[in-house]
Amino acid sequence: MAYQALYRAWRPQRFSEIAGQAHITRTLVNAVDSGRIAHAYLFSGPRGTGKTTTAKVLAKAVNCAEREGAEPCNRCPSCTSINNGVSIDVLEIDAASNRGIDEIRELREQIRFRPASSPYKVYIVDEVHMLTGEAFNALLKTLEEPPRHVIFVLATTEVHKVPLTILSRCQRFEFRRISNEDILDRLDEIIGFADLTVEDGVLELIARVSEGSLRDALSVLDQASALGGDRITMVDLYAILGTVGQDVLETLAHRLDANDAAGALRLLHEVQNSKDLRLFAREFTDYLRGLLFVTLEGRTKPDLDQGRTLRLLSLFAKAEQEMRFASRQSLPLELAVVRFVRGDDDFEARVADLEQRLQKLEEYVGTGHQAPVTGETPAGRDDLPSGLKASEPSPQRATTNQADRPGTQGRTRTTVAGDALVSETTLEDLETVRRRWPEVLAACKREQYLKRTRPLALDGITLVVGCGDPFTLDVFERPQNLVVLEEALNRVLAVKWRIKCVRDNPPGEA
Ligand SMILES: [Zn+2]
Repeated sequence: MAYQALYRAWRPQRFSEIAGQAHITRTLVNAVDSGRIAHAYLFSGPRGTGKTTTAKVLAKAVNCAEREGAEPCNRCPSCTSINNGVSIDVLEIDAASNRGIDEIRELREQIRFRPASSPYKVYIVDEVHMLTGEAFNALLKTLEEPPRHVIFVLATTEVHKVPLTILSRCQRFEFRRISNEDILDRLDEIIGFADLTVEDGVLELIARVSEGSLRDALSVLDQASALGGDRITMVDLYAILGTVGQDVLETLAHRLDANDAAGALRLLHEVQNSKDLRLFAREFTDYLRGLLFVTLEGRTKPDLDQGRTLRLLSLFAKAEQEMRFASRQSLPLELAVVRFVRGDDDFEARVADLEQRLQKLEEYVGTGHQAPVTGETPAGRDDLPSGLKASEPSPQRATTNQADRPGTQGRTRTTVAGDALVSETTLEDLETVRRRWPEVLAACKREQYLKRTRPLALDGITLVVGCGDPFTLDVFERPQNLVVLEEALNRVLAVKWRIKCVRDNPPGEA
């Protein structure tokens, strides 16, 4: 027996066998059951989703002499002639190769004759959007006054190219991409009948790469069985699909997680040498998507942190899109790698972080700068937006300062939390502050504004700073300026204090 492609051999013969289009088959079954058949149908949807198959089942059903409910019997002469493609009453026309006015005129001549041996003549016009304008006009005339014995089924993958005048004459059905589950079910069924064995993961991968097209899925299965015989392995499948194994995807994810940009780029180039890079990009985003779902459901301990997985997924999904238009296929992927490692992409995360910091700052300002008396440290000064921070002193200087005052540093570090700290700052500390005040001012880089300030008192961990004139006081009462001063103070003295500014009459001025 001649070899027959799986998708032909296993083409659904009844409405109930058509996968994933229940919303359409149910309506058609009702129409056949109740005898309310339209004269023109338009089946639109992606390739391989069952449009022509459904058209043929419909053609059989309306002409079957021994219909079982709405289902064709697939045994009577009408059914068998349609199944064998030799029926003279059911005609398939490929509009891609018969797109002109002459073909449609000929068709109009033919349809005037009654069917030879069946109730209906059924014309299945595939890729109808390919017809020329003239041909569409001729077709329209036929659709306007169809003979009672004629049914048109127009099928198209590009419904937007079909004129509205035609669309409005047809009952329309939108075929959907077939879900992975439906494709898997069908593949399972077929390998059972065809006596094939498959390695774990084979069917899942086929379903995934076929993107909702059962015909594509079956053609991959076909090729795999031609290559691997009765037993199909993942390796066969990788060879056919030009994809890589799970281990390569994992390696890429790990290198990215380790911020190893060079390693990740090297891997991409290796893949590019032997595989289809776009397919690889899709595989990698599918892999990440899988990871994300698994960690969201808490099924396993994540290899990769959830936030990082999410970032990777959005970067690579975008790259995959961009690859369609890129002159160098690898470029969007390379950019995704570099952006991830550099953290350039994380705009939203950075805004959220800033918002959080701002809120902390507002809360802090709202307290009127009262020194915290609970275990709170002065609201994590490191969290302040960098724009408000004083310029960094040179590392050398900071080191020198700390070396100068090992005692201060040690003490405040160990007693930073709680009331203990309040009682531990002493008059001696105030003296130290006074002595080193010029250093604090220098660290601030606001010396010209600060020369009329001086430390007056130390109240717990609040340093009271006198401002020699109303202008200085006005400037340093503003939270954004006060923060700069506090930051400098805390850095120079290695403490965690706050500052309160008051009006002061410097000695010698009354
Ligand atoms: Zn029949």
